[in-house]
Parts: sequence; C-alpha cells; structure tokens
Amino acid sequence: MEQNETAEPNNNVHKTKIIIIGGGMAGLSAAYHLTKNGVTDYKILEARGRIGGRIVQIPIGNEKVELGANWIHGVLGNPVYELAMQHGLVDIMACPKPHKIVAATEQGKQVPFATLHEIYEAYLCFLKRCEEYFISQYLPLRESTVSETILKPLRKVIPKDNLLVNHPVKQIKWNCNKKSTKDDSDSDDSDRTVIESPSTSRESSCEKVLSRHNVEVICDNDKKFIGDHVICTLPLGVLKHKVNNIFQPPLPDYKLEAIDRLLFGTVDKILLEYERPFLHPNITEVLLLWEPEMEKNDDISKNWYKKIYSFAKITETLILGWISGKEAEYMETLSNDIIIETCTTILRKFLNDPFIPKPKSCACTSWYSQQYTRGSYTAIAVGSSQLDIEYLAQPLYLDENESKVRTGDIYLLKSI
Ligand SMILES: Cc1cc2nc3c(=O)[nH]c(=O)nc-3n(C[C@H](O)[C@H](O)[C@H](O)COP(=O)(O)OP(=O)(O)OC[C@H]3O[C@@H](n4cnc5c(N)ncnc54)[C@H](O)[C@@H]3O)c2cc1C
Repeated sequence: MEQNETAEPNNNVHKTKIIIIGGGMAGLSAAYHLTKNGVTDYKILEARGRIGGRIVQIPIGNEKVELGANWIHGVLGNPVYELAMQHGLVDIMACPKPHKIVAATEQGKQVPFATLHEIYEAYLCFLKRCEEYFISQYLPLRESTVSETILKPLRKVIPKDNLLVNHPVKQIKWNCNKKSTKDDSDSDDSDRTVIESPSTSRESSCEKVLSRHNVEVICDNDKKFIGDHVICTLPLGVLKHKVNNIFQPPLPDYKLEAIDRLLFGTVDKILLEYERPFLHPNITEVLLLWEPEMEKNDDISKNWYKKIYSFAKITETLILGWISGKEAEYMETLSNDIIIETCTTILRKFLNDPFIPKPKSCACTSWYSQQYTRGSYTAIAVGSSQLDIEYLAQPLYLDENESKVRTGDIYLLKSI
C-alpha cells in the first residue's frame, strides 16, 4: 500500500489550479474524474505516508487483511460499484460462500437453529423493505483485496507528481469578498453538486483574508499551496475535532451545525491469528448474545468487551472480532495482551470450551485514535438527516452572484 511518492522540490509556495485535500477514496476519485476530463493542474495533499485513507490492508501470516472498508454495498447509484464493474473487479454471478452462523449465549449455550432462522427471516423481511443500498453487497474477489482492487484504477490515472503524501494540511484560507447568504435560489448554478440551500438563511463571519489568491492551503511542513479551488475530503471525524482551526474564515454556520449534528461513530476490528484451527469448518461466524445488564454499570473499563458482538472467520486460523461505540474507543487504549486474554475468555465461555487456544498474535484497528480519521464512519444521528450530508457537500463560492466562471470555490465532498 505504501506508495513511492516523491516530495516536491523544497520550494515553499506552489501554485496549482485545484487543491485536493485527502488521498482517500473521495480525494482520489475527484482526481480521477479531473484527469479523465482533461484537467491535470491539481495537487492532492495527503497527510499520511500512504494513500487510501480508510481503505487499507495489512498482511497477517499469508493473508492480506482489510482494516477498514471491506464490502461494496449496493449497486444502483453507487459509484464504487460502477468503478469496480468497469474494471472487472466484481463477479455478480459468483455464489457467495455459504454462511453458517452460530449464536451463542454467555452461558455457553447455542440458540437452536430454528429460532435463529425465524429471527433471521423476520430481520430479512424488515431489511427487504429498506433501501436497495442495504440489500446487496459484493465482495471483490478474495485473492485481490478491496485496497488493491478499488484504489488501483484510480491511482493509475493520477500523474505521479500530483500526489503529495506526508502533507498534513493545517489551514485552508479561502477568499470571501462578500457576506455569504444561503438564499441563492435564483442564481444560475446548474453545475453545483447540490442545488438546494438550507431553508434558513445564515451568514458566515467571513472577511477578506486573501487579496491576491483565491485559496491558500498551508501544510504542517509550512509548504503553501495557492490555487483557484479546493476540494476538501477531510473525514467528518477530523472536521468535528478541528474545523474551527482549519478554515479561515470559518465555515458558514449551516455547515458547522451539520458537522455537529452528524455522528461519526467508531467501529474497530480485532484480528486474532491462531496456530491451529479451533472452530468447526462449517461455522463461519459466532454471534455473541450478551445477557442484559441487571444493573446499569457506567464503568467502561469493567464492561467494554460486551460490545464485541461477533467473531467471524477470515480463514481457519484468522478470526475477526467486531466492536463498536465508546467501548471500541476504550479498547484502543488497551494492550494487545489484555485484548487477547479477554477475547479468549469470551470465546471459551460462549463456546463452552475451555480448550480454545490463545491466539499467537493480535492486531486491532484504532480508527478513533488515528488523528487523520477520528472514527470509522458517518451515521445520521437522532436530530440529523440526509440533508446534513448535502449541506456538508454543498460548494462554497467566492462570490455567490458570480455566474458560471467562479474561483475560490470550496467543495467539501460527502465523506461517509
Ligand atoms: C472499520 C471500517 C469498516 C468499513 N467498512 C466499509 C465497507 O464495508 N464498505 C464501505 O463502502 N465502506 C466501509 N467503510 C467506510 C469507508 O472506508 C469510507 O467511507 C471511505 O473509505 C471514506 O473515504 P474518504 O476519502 O471520504 O475518507 P478517508 O478514506 O478517511 O480519506 C481521507 C483522507 O484525508 C487524509 N487527511 C486527514 N486529515 C488530513 C489533513 N489534515 N491533511 C491532509 N490529509 C488529511 C487522511 O489521511 C485520508 O487519507 C468502513 C470504514 C471503517 C473504518
């Protein structure tokens, strides 16, 4: 995954037409589309030493394991699916491997298959009523993982010098020569990515911060990039933590409120590698059915592990545990020894088998602690709605009254 990107010559100010912040799927995809449309005067500024963001894999034993995104959800309108199809990366004719789940209780008892089936049918029925998004998921071919397959076609078309890794952005200065109001319904902005404006008119406290350039992006290494447009693909978690320090002038209130309302939750993976197989070859996943708490216990250090909800088999000797929420964030602070100990106790208890071996190694993701992610993915929280995602994506213009040719636009791509 690590790329051999070159750093720019040690000249501190760089001029480019479009500055893309973030080299994850969104940033690479923006670059891909620009290149495909004949625009190559852009730079991608990526904080990490690698591209891909939340699409990343590591080797464990002989396997390549995804630490972030794994599945392509949905078909219609999913650009990732379209990209994968275009490049022959998914096989919709292939039958998925049979999935044999065991649901085990804390007492080490297994829920009868008939009961499980009944619950599953009810769940499926509910699921079918949901959007198509939830119905199908395609896993790119096993031997080539998501990271390799889906990033490759994007990376291939991006000129090497346009991609600068190890360039964490600390400030985005964007020109603003008028107070921005959101009521632009009569403007001819047919090229906007989102047409609707929030219904309430709010004003940003923008002031003119730049006189000669439209946008100026400053990196931690003090390199400056000046240009006409910024495409910002910072994850929502990073925006939640840093939005007030990054944008100068600050983003308009409607965007700040959308950032606040949306949730950026944590889902972590616990990868356990064993010397020998211990689960029956037919079983692919063990669901953990925890007893409800008799008394409310807010001490997360005592019950964090109860948020581990499943152990799924990647191979016969590689098991993937899933944990989410505040408990996942707490887990990120623990040592591997404690996690190994805890997972072994859980598996022995739920499978009622004291001989389940200890894993020889353990690797856990730390999406919340990662300063360039700060969580795993966006969810629409109570009080939030799809509109918030649209507000976030809505471009900001240098001058709302300018017609088609504008400069200084900031596009915050939807990051999910
Ligand atoms: C555990 C997990 C499982 C997931 N499973 C799935 C799945 O099965 N299917 C699916 O579709 N999605 C899944 N997702 C979500 C998916 O990974 C993301 O939606 C997608 O990768 C987001 O792409 P992005 O480009 O918007 O953000 P990112 O991939 O986060 O990219 C943002 C980039 O910005 C960079 N950056 C951050 N701060 C700065 C800065 N200051 N300066 C410069 N660069 C910066 C980051 O390093 C990163 O490279 C999962 C995510 C996680 C964490």
